[in-house]
Amino acid sequence: MDCLFCSIAAGEVPSKKVYEDELVYAFYDIEPQAPTHFLVIPKAHISGCGDVTKDNSHIIAHCFEVITQVTKELGIEAFRVVSNCGESAGQAVFHLHFHVLAGRDMTWPPG
Ligand code: AMP
Ligand code: ZN
Repeated sequence: MDCLFCSIAAGEVPSKKVYEDELVYAFYDIEPQAPTHFLVIPKAHISGCGDVTKDNSHIIAHCFEVITQVTKELGIEAFRVVSNCGESAGQAVFHLHFHVLAGRDMTWPPG
């Protein structure tokens, strides 16, 4: 399967790594939308937030453990986690990812 984020998780496409373990890879977004902007992805290919099942939900839970750990390590106290699911919601890469954004004031609701 031709998937950019599978290739990044496999180290075939270069990225600026933030964190890695057997289930999860995290790396800085190439087009940051905040002073700190990294992506947390499962190494296994899951297309998006609409494809979470009983079999893979432990990986999603682990993504959030990683978000907690990495934000603490980076000294980030306030942050936003975003996952766009579907083209009209802003998803461009169809491999589930959590955006972690920090370092500026953010508005709500999002555009
Ligand atoms: P989304 O629009 O939610 O699918 O988010 C995809 C994100 O991936 C965007 O914020 C892009 O800037 C980011 N992105 C695309 N290609 C790369 C890459 N090669 N390395 C790091 N981030 C990327
Ligand atoms: Zn993939």
